[in-house]
Amino acid sequence: MQFRVLGCSGGQIPGQHLSSYLVNGSLLIDAGSVTAVLSLKGQQKIRNVLVTHVHLDHVLSLATMADNLFGFCQAAVNVWGLQEVIAGLHASFFNDTLWPDFTRITGDSQSWPVLSFHNLPEDEPIPIGNVTVTAVRVHHLVPSTAFFIENDKETLLHVGDTGPTEKVWAMARRRKNLRAVVVETSFPNRLQNIADISRHLTPQVLAKELEKLGRPSVPILVTHLKPQFRQEIIAELKKLKNPRIKILKQGESLAL
Ligand SMILES: [Zn+2]
Ligand SMILES: [Zn+2]
Repeated sequence: MQFRVLGCSGGQIPGQHLSSYLVNGSLLIDAGSVTAVLSLKGQQKIRNVLVTHVHLDHVLSLATMADNLFGFCQAAVNVWGLQEVIAGLHASFFNDTLWPDFTRITGDSQSWPVLSFHNLPEDEPIPIGNVTVTAVRVHHLVPSTAFFIENDKETLLHVGDTGPTEKVWAMARRRKNLRAVVVETSFPNRLQNIADISRHLTPQVLAKELEKLGRPSVPILVTHLKPQFRQEIIAELKKLKNPRIKILKQGESLAL
C-alpha cells in the first residue's frame, strides 16, 4: 500500500498544506489541500474520498476539486463518511449557498454529477476500490472518524482529529498486519486546556493514548501539528524518547 502525504499541517501557512493523504493514487483521505498539491491529472485519478469529519481544514478542497473535475470526470467520485459527516457536507457545505451541490449538477460537458455521497456504517468492513475500510468513531468537537484501511497484507490506521479516545485503540490492539498508525498532535503541553476544550491531543496525552494502543513495534506517524507551535510540539515529542514516533512530512511517500 502506498501512502502519500499531500498535506499534514494542522493549520495553513505558505508551504504548509492542510490534511490530505493519498492511498495508492486513487483513494483520498480528507481534502484539506488536494487541489493545492495535485495536478488536474492527479485529481482525475481520485475515485474515492474518505472524510474523517466536516471541519473546513479537512474538506476545504472538496469544493475546488469538484469544480475542477466538472466536464473531466469519467465517473462520479465517491465521497464516504459517517452518516453525520455526509449529512453535514450536504447541509453546511454543498448546500447551493456556500457552494453548489455537486451531487446534483450536470450540464453540457458532464452527464452525471461529479460527486456521489455515501454513508459508511460504523465498525463494519466495507470494500472501497481495492482496499477494505472500517470506520470507527473517535472523540472530537464534531463527529470524527478513524479508518482502518487494509488489503491482504497490510493495514493502515488513520485516526482523524481526536481527543482521548478508547474504542479505536482496543480494535487496533488486535488488528492483524497493522503497519502504521497516523494520529494527530495539535497543541503543545502548555496549551492542554485549549486542547481539551477543542478535543485535540498534546504530546503528553498522545503518550497516554499510545499506552492504550500497545503494539510497541508499530510506527506512530504524528500529524496535524499547528504551524505556530510546530517547533515546540516537536521538541516535546522528542522528550517522550519513544523511538517509534515519527513526525509525518509533507510530500513523503511511504510504502507500508
Ligand atoms: Zn477538526
Ligand atoms: Zn483539523
